[in-house]
Amino acid sequence: MIYADNAATTKLNKEAFEAMIPFLLEFYANASQPYSFSRKAKRALKDARRTIAGCINAEPEEIYFTSGGTESDNWAIKNFCPQTDIRHIITSPIEHHAILNACKSISYNSQLSLLSVDSKGIVSEKSLLEIFTRPREVVASCKNTLVSVMLANNEIGTIQPIKELCEIAHSHGAYFHTDAVQAVGHIPIDVKDLGVDMLSASAHKFNGTKGIGFLYIKKSLGIIQAFHNGGMQENGLRAGTENVASVVAMAYALKSNCDNMNKNISHLKLLEDAVISILDKEHIDYLRNGINQLPGNVNLSFKGVEGEMLLHRLDLKNICVSTGAACDSQNQKATHVIEAIGVPDEYKYGTIRISFGFENTMEEAKVIANALVSIIKCSGNNTCSKRQKILYTRLS
Ligand code: PLP
Repeated sequence: MIYADNAATTKLNKEAFEAMIPFLLEFYANASQPYSFSRKAKRALKDARRTIAGCINAEPEEIYFTSGGTESDNWAIKNFCPQTDIRHIITSPIEHHAILNACKSISYNSQLSLLSVDSKGIVSEKSLLEIFTRPREVVASCKNTLVSVMLANNEIGTIQPIKELCEIAHSHGAYFHTDAVQAVGHIPIDVKDLGVDMLSASAHKFNGTKGIGFLYIKKSLGIIQAFHNGGMQENGLRAGTENVASVVAMAYALKSNCDNMNKNISHLKLLEDAVISILDKEHIDYLRNGINQLPGNVNLSFKGVEGEMLLHRLDLKNICVSTGAACDSQNQKATHVIEAIGVPDEYKYGTIRISFGFENTMEEAKVIANALVSIIKCSGNNTCSKRQKILYTRLS
């Protein structure tokens, strides 16, 4: 099996797994208890917080453990200010649904503004400036404004000009959050240099376990409200018994990825280049979506082909990738990201995302590219026939 869907989730780092076992079987005490048996768990949480903070140039007390990216995003969007305050949220149309749906859920007391993105998926700084210079009365009732723009897009991998966007936001008195779920552990991140007030991360995207993540909250952001209420864990802002074992694994995995980052980035770039050069050599008609992508992200739209057909044909060859389009009987749909960047109709339904991880080999990259070439060349008019669809449905 070739797994090339690392943007969806990654394999747990084996040493991180080993590091968590003692906290499940031996030092399983509740970290909040006062007796000495809980000391190891308490110490492990403290060390993990320091390790994670070190990886993004934060202070340990600025790291709040959560259940993952979705929770971190929901916390930042819904609770960045008192719930009774009417707020203005400025975000982009290519955010993950964790952001977009969190925004929708508070539409009863918030105003939402969407930034523009260009055809490569770069969020426009100009459109942020324009929103801030709208006539005052349009946003006059909003006491607090939050700009939330993802650090790197989960479909097309585009890395956003966060530092610049953040400077614009701050110069207009707004707060800034970035969903860095796809970026943490994959590219260098320095929260002080970026200037962000909050940053979301999720361990299963950087070889930790699922169901654990963190929200970085800048010390000076006094306005933030508790995510949910209960005990005094996480400084009283995120109650609930700490998941010590998963936190330990998360810190281990993140440190390991950060220590090996340069080596991994060079390796992933070679895999990307191998796919592209095989497609070009075989004169395949495709567009590569995004620009300044995350290492290992290859998002491609093939002309006149259905992405879902490609996904299932690759699956038959034991290759796992993602699709950026779904073909459901008569209706073809591209994702909100592919739509937002305006991929032309004849290409957009043929979108797939290959996302390599550092364990993928050059051989695997070539197998994927050659498989794509043979599927595309054999697919005639490249549409999902009814028979293929029945077969794929049975298989999935
Ligand atoms: N934000 C982005 C950009 C993501 O890619 C994902 C997961 O795919 C999430 C948020 C949600 O993270 P989690 O799966 O940890 O809830």
